[in-house]
Amino acid sequence: MAEPPVLCVDGVCRQLQHPTGFSPGTIEIVKSVGIKGVNQNPDVRTIQQALNDVPPGQGRPNVTLKVDGICGPHTKDSIQSFQVKHFGWKGADGRVDPYYKTIAKLNEVTSGGGRTVGIGSDQNRIQRVTAMLNETLSTIRSARANLLGALPVVDSPETSSPISAFGRAELMRKANAHFRIDDHPSPKRRGTIEQATRIYDRMLDVFARPGGLWGPAIFEIDPLHQPSIAYTFGGGYFSGGRFETIRGTQLRRDSIYLCDLLDLQGNDWFVISIVHELSHFCGGLTGSAEHIRDHAYGWYDAPKMKALKASQLLFNATSYSNFAFDTKFSRRPARVNF
Ligand SMILES: [Zn+2]
Repeated sequence: MAEPPVLCVDGVCRQLQHPTGFSPGTIEIVKSVGIKGVNQNPDVRTIQQALNDVPPGQGRPNVTLKVDGICGPHTKDSIQSFQVKHFGWKGADGRVDPYYKTIAKLNEVTSGGGRTVGIGSDQNRIQRVTAMLNETLSTIRSARANLLGALPVVDSPETSSPISAFGRAELMRKANAHFRIDDHPSPKRRGTIEQATRIYDRMLDVFARPGGLWGPAIFEIDPLHQPSIAYTFGGGYFSGGRFETIRGTQLRRDSIYLCDLLDLQGNDWFVISIVHELSHFCGGLTGSAEHIRDHAYGWYDAPKMKALKASQLLFNATSYSNFAFDTKFSRRPARVNF
């Protein structure tokens, strides 16, 4: 029996993929425009005007569009032609979605070249991603070190501890913020920290795979051009050499696929996204006791995160990415709408 496929393409993880780290340009829409789009009149007007503003040779409509808010065949064709020009036929679904790559490209080409947030080539992406992956790696190391520092605290009883109350609170502060270790009964605290440490250890293992980071090693460029930041298979760490066919394309279960929208992410959100995916990847297989899910998203003080039980936090992907980020940078990620 195959487990449900790609955890982070469908379902709840799409919420993470929504690139909240992407700061919109001046062209903004509320709902989708184009083929099978919602096509609210003001949004359609925005896109019609934006297409008319595209410089010559960059996918501007042959005949200037009437800015009337009605998404007729001419408007739909113009969206598609613009997409073909910039993304090829594979990326040309004839629809502009809020925050996604077509609106990003419209902002880029109509801004007179001032902004360069566009979708890079695969090669450019690999260069940037490789640099950012080193940053991500040190973030994971930082998380692990912080947890190891907390272990002696949970081992020594609070009353007779050689660690001062202040030192104790400080050593446990971030682990408690993100995983609420002290909400577990004291005999279970060590096991809880060890469980989280195990996940980060596996992440470090992933980076240490022989053969480097790319190709069959671990990270690959998404061949499906999903409107996502990244996706992976839950428990992929344990699925070496296994494949899954999605929409006619063979995907490795033991890879993390990096998507077009990753190029639009700021550095903070890049690190958060990769650690998030890695935690799905390094947890157990779907359905197993160690399977890491998306119970909630947001920073630890967001209401949905606060509503989770401590036992859920230990199996919540965002808790792993938040904790790692916090241990390295001592702040919440920038430009994320938590
Ligand atoms: Zn997820």
